[in-house]
Amino acid sequence: MEKTKKILLTERDIPHQWYNIMGDMPNPMLPPLHPGTMQPIGPEDLAPLFPMELIKQEVSAESWIEIPDEVRDAYRIWRPTPLYRAYQFEKLLDTPAKIYYKYEGTSPSGSHKPNTALAQAYYNKMEGVRKLSTETGAGQWGSALSFACKMFGLECEVFMVKISYQQKPFRKMLMNIWDATVHASPTDLTDAGKAILKGDPNSPGSLGIAISEAVEVAAKDGSTKYSLGSVLNHVLMHQTVIGLEAEKQLEMAGDFPDVVIAPFGGGSNFAGITFPFLRHNFRSGKNVRCIAIEPASCPKLTKGQFRYDFGDTIGMTPLIPMYTLGHNFLPAPIHAGGLRYHGAGAIVSQLLRDKLIEAQAIQQLECFEAGVKFAGAEGILPAPEATHAIAGVVREAMRAREEGKSKTILFNLCGHGYFDMSAYQDYFSGKLVDHHFTDDELYANLRELNTPIPA
Ligand SMILES: *Cc1c(COP(=O)(O)O)cnc(C)c1O
Repeated sequence: MEKTKKILLTERDIPHQWYNIMGDMPNPMLPPLHPGTMQPIGPEDLAPLFPMELIKQEVSAESWIEIPDEVRDAYRIWRPTPLYRAYQFEKLLDTPAKIYYKYEGTSPSGSHKPNTALAQAYYNKMEGVRKLSTETGAGQWGSALSFACKMFGLECEVFMVKISYQQKPFRKMLMNIWDATVHASPTDLTDAGKAILKGDPNSPGSLGIAISEAVEVAAKDGSTKYSLGSVLNHVLMHQTVIGLEAEKQLEMAGDFPDVVIAPFGGGSNFAGITFPFLRHNFRSGKNVRCIAIEPASCPKLTKGQFRYDFGDTIGMTPLIPMYTLGHNFLPAPIHAGGLRYHGAGAIVSQLLRDKLIEAQAIQQLECFEAGVKFAGAEGILPAPEATHAIAGVVREAMRAREEGKSKTILFNLCGHGYFDMSAYQDYFSGKLVDHHFTDDELYANLRELNTPIPA
C-alpha cells in the first residue's frame, strides 16, 4: 500500500469547541495585577479594552468552550488544515524519527493567526464594537486581524513596527486590501508614540511600543476596542483547533507524538499545537515532550526571569506573571519579527516554571539553514518564525539517529514565508548574523524593573 503523505479531515471535523488548559493545570497561575493598586485585576479593569465574552474566557476554568457557529463557518474557508508526514525531510536527515507537520500556512493571511482573529472580531461585533486597534510586528497579526475585521464588518487600525513597515511593504498592502488603516509605529498620533519619538526620533519601533499605541487608541475611544494576537489566555485557547485537529489526524495515521515542537513568540501557536497533547499528560499519564523554540536574540524562556512585568513598553497593561527580558528590552532586528517579544504568556510561563514544558533558544543562521533544507525536501517555504521549529526538529531527529531509536515528532509549520523573501535574500547574501549576548546586556533591563518577583 502506498504510504499516505497528506492526512486530511473534512469540514465536519473542524472542532466544535476550543480546549481550555486552565482547568487541567496542576498549579494555577498567579493573578495579573493592577499596576496602580498591585491588587489582582477584575473584569471591570479590562472592560474598556475587551468585550465581556473574551474577558470571561480569559479567566474561565471550563475545559471546553463552544466555538460559535459564525466563527466555525468562517474557519471553513481554510480549515481543517492538512497534516503532512515529512517523508522527504526524514530521508534527507537520514533519521529513524517519524516527522509530521501541521501546516497553518493555508489560511488567507498565511499563518495560524486568523484562528483567534476571527473569534475576537466576532465577539467584538456581537457586543456592538465599531473598530479594533492592534499592533503588528512582522505583519502576520495585522493581516490576520484585518482579514477578520473585513469578514465581520469592523474597522481595523494597525500600528505596525516601523522597521517591519519599511521591510515588508507587501504585508501592509495586504492589510490595505482588507480595508485596514496601517501606521508606522512609533507615530505622533498617540501620547505613547510621541514620548518614544521625543527620546529617539529615529526609533525603529518595537512590538511593546506598538502595543502601547494601540491600547491608548482603544482606551480613549468608547467605540474602539483592542485586540492582541498572542500572550493572553483566550488567544492561546482559540489556537487549540490546531492541536485538536492534529490529534485526530495522527490517530488516522495510527500514531501519537513523543515530541511536539513549535516556535515561540508570545506562546499562541505553541499553545495551539501542544495544549491538546499536554491534556493527555495531565489526564491520562502520557509523557509527551513539548518544546518551545525561541530565537537566541530574544531568549525570554531560557534566559529571562519569572516575575511580574508589563505586556507593553510604556507600562499601560496589567502586570502579568511571566518569563520576561524586561518590558523595555529592544531585541535585535531579526527577520523572525513574530518572535521579537520581550515576554511570554502567563499560562506557558507557569507550565515552564513547573517544568511541564521545555524551551530551547536557537541562533537564526541554524534556523534559516534548517528552513532552506526543509523547503528543498518538502517544497513549502517556511516563515522565518517557523524555521525555529524546524531547527528544533533537526536537532531531535539527529538525536534519534545517534541513539538509533525511532520516535514520533510533530511540529507546527505555523506559516509560509512567501512574504518574507527579503529575509531569505539577506540570508543568502550573508547579511544575517547570529547574536551573542552577555548576561550583563540581557539583564540590564531587568535590573531597572521594580515590579514584584513572586517567591
Ligand atoms: C506571530 C507568529 C509567531 C509568533 O507568535 P506566537 O504567539 O508565539 O505563535 C510565530 N510564527 C508565525 C508565522 C507568526 O505569524
